[in-house]
Amino acid sequence: MNNKIDQIASEVKTCQRCALYKNAIQGVPGEGNPEARVFFIGEGPGQEEDKQGRPFVGQAGKFLEEMLGLIGWKREDVFIGNIVKHRPPGNRDPLPEEIDACWPYLDAQLEAIKPKLIVLLGRHAMYRFLPSDFRISKEHGKIFRRQGKFITPLYHPAAALYHGGLRQTLIQDFKKLPKMLAKIDSLATGG
Ligand code: SF4
Repeated sequence: MNNKIDQIASEVKTCQRCALYKNAIQGVPGEGNPEARVFFIGEGPGQEEDKQGRPFVGQAGKFLEEMLGLIGWKREDVFIGNIVKHRPPGNRDPLPEEIDACWPYLDAQLEAIKPKLIVLLGRHAMYRFLPSDFRISKEHGKIFRRQGKFITPLYHPAAALYHGGLRQTLIQDFKKLPKMLAKIDSLATGG
């Protein structure tokens, strides 16, 4: 399984399927436990992620790690990736065609890891899995089942950094994740 994740990472590093690679320093394939039970999906690499080639290593990443710590999880336990693997210039929103072009990588990572729970960080990740009339302000912290996958949308940690009012909401949603996972386990065992 590690091999598959490594293979996807090396394909990302040389990918030119959309124009995003042109302005980025490098691809950021995603990283974490190849047997993770929980897969976090953000929007795209920011400046620091582009420099380091790793996801969620800037301010938003520190906040993500803080919240993982609050529920007794570590970043090495989970897998962390993004909807697009190269940084959109100036941190603009990824375009629909860029998201489409990059989707096979994320799809292959999900297929290799088979997480119990997919956590969608922010609206760009949410719209890849849930209907476009959904609003994150209404749906955050709820669990959905789509095509056999359990998913939950949360606010993006960066949004909570810029809009202080969302910080506590995001922390409260994070605290629900262990219970969600336990519920998914009990459904799987018929409990
Ligand atoms: S963002 Fe995705 S599809 Fe576009 S060049 Fe990078 S890896 Fe390829």
